[in-house]
Amino acid sequence: ELYNKILELKGNIRVFCRCRPLNSEEIADGASMAIDFGTDSELSVKSNGALKKSFKFDAVFGPQADQVDVFEDTAPFATSVLDGYNVCIFAYGQTGSGKTFTMEGTDEARGVNFRTLEELFRIIEDRKNQIRYEICVSALEVYNEQIRDLLVPGSHSGAAAKRLEIRQVGEGIHHVPGLVEASVKNMSEVWEVLQTGSNARAVGSTNANEHSSRSHCIHCVMVKGENMLNGERTRSKLWLVDLAGSERVAKTEVQGERLKETQNINRSLSALGDVISSLATKSPHIPFRNSKLTHLLQDSLGGDSKTLMLVQISPNENDLSETLCSLNFASRVR
Ligand code: ADP
Ligand code: MG
Repeated sequence: ELYNKILELKGNIRVFCRCRPLNSEEIADGASMAIDFGTDSELSVKSNGALKKSFKFDAVFGPQADQVDVFEDTAPFATSVLDGYNVCIFAYGQTGSGKTFTMEGTDEARGVNFRTLEELFRIIEDRKNQIRYEICVSALEVYNEQIRDLLVPGSHSGAAAKRLEIRQVGEGIHHVPGLVEASVKNMSEVWEVLQTGSNARAVGSTNANEHSSRSHCIHCVMVKGENMLNGERTRSKLWLVDLAGSERVAKTEVQGERLKETQNINRSLSALGDVISSLATKSPHIPFRNSKLTHLLQDSLGGDSKTLMLVQISPNENDLSETLCSLNFASRVR
């Protein structure tokens, strides 16, 4: 409750920034750090040792922060979902900045996706004498403005590929008919679904890493709650989104299929930025329809929904221009 009050005061959009450590190759190359960390909500960017620009966010996680540190500040969103709020959590940043590490994580260092679901089940257990919950999970990908179901085997291949579309089925209710919604009752079932989705992403692309940097990977957790004491029912959604890489690609460098991909990524990321900043400034018109991504998430952006943008950056001075773009994007939506 205290958390909800804090969120109300600040609006429903929060921005965290996470900077990955330099990796061993960068260290071997003698790469220098372009980021200085101040308090736990500030950072500054420097170039050739001189200060370039400072930024302030709701939280800043430096290279020393681990998955538990990041999740501590993310966990309250799990409570919000069970309280009936729609929540969107995005990881934004250039390829290689740690989006997938933060969201998916590794077996040893599980990320926000797994931890959030674990927190949901922990709270469900806490509330079991009062509220009964049903949880379903979908896993999908938006690639080239097309939606692909990651829980349908073979959905990458032409024959089995089902074209999924977004339908409006009521006032403020959008739905993707045919999308698999897997009912999950415990964390081992959740883990299975997350693994299936993650594996499906790699299938059917010649270079799995390249493919995943050009598509948005989305998990949707649907929650139905029924209060057994007063009969009150809630329905809410949690979206966990590992966005396509935000790096700018010069049009002169790419052609054909790659150019189309690049344009679609640019379009959907800028549409997302436009939607969130129009929501933040309470603009009367919110341009949800400008991309599949914002259209899909329309019901869960704005109103009393809560949004968390995790902006991922690289500390490497060589990545400075992309880092500044990401930080500027983040400042714009805040
Ligand atoms: P992205 O999804 O943005 O392309 P990745 O999550 O794949 O980036 O991260 C790139 C590499 O950096 C991976 O090998 C990942 O394990 C590593 N990495 C990213 N963030 C961290 C971190 N905070 N701590 C340790 N390693 C990280
Ligand atoms: Mg990734």
